[in-house]
Amino acid sequence: MSPALADIRARIAAAEARAGRPAGSVTLVAVSKTQPWDHIAPVLEAGQKVFGENRVQEAMERWTEHREGLQLRLIGPLQTNKAREAVGFFDVIETLDREKLARVLAEEIQRVGKAPRLYVQVNIGEEPQKAGVAPDRADTFIDACRTIYGLTVEGLMCIPPFDQDPAPYFARLATIAERNGVDKLSMGMSDDFEIAIAQGATSVRVGSALFGVRR
Ligand SMILES: *Cc1c(COP(=O)(O)O)cnc(C)c1O
Repeated sequence: MSPALADIRARIAAAEARAGRPAGSVTLVAVSKTQPWDHIAPVLEAGQKVFGENRVQEAMERWTEHREGLQLRLIGPLQTNKAREAVGFFDVIETLDREKLARVLAEEIQRVGKAPRLYVQVNIGEEPQKAGVAPDRADTFIDACRTIYGLTVEGLMCIPPFDQDPAPYFARLATIAERNGVDKLSMGMSDDFEIAIAQGATSVRVGSALFGVRR
């Protein structure tokens, strides 16, 4: 078993209850990037089914032989030359953030006849070093994904600035989602997932609090 997993699940349940949200309304995405298998195995054995990875190649190496019955999410930047593999391998891609990628994903989805669920990443703190579409361009981009490329945008994802109160950033992402008719919000990590749940997160991406500090 994994005491860390039990602890995170309990904290998610408590945060749902505090926010007056139904039990089970928040999905835990276990972020397994760079973790050794002996840290991942107990979490897998305890029944965790949803995992997040940052890199296509690393994810395929780690998960190909354990793929059955799991939901794998890409939460790191996607280069267009990896789009084919990503469409083939992931159930959810959370980092759609530019037109060129939308076009290539649409082509691959057409070609293979299988579509991963898609989230648009928003650079909610407008930080130059972070990926994501700028908040004031999000409406236009979501519309382009839908109308030009025929993609279904299921959710929005963000990573707020690490040194500030994240609550206003999470709230801003929720506002963008609401006015664009987008249902899902991927926000909150090890240090702030309870705050994200209070602001409406439907999934939280938790790595180090679950598996230990990354090497
Ligand atoms: C690594 C990563 C996480 C997990 O971060 P922790 O602080 O270890 O929980 C979540 N989201 C993204 C996009 C990441 O790259």
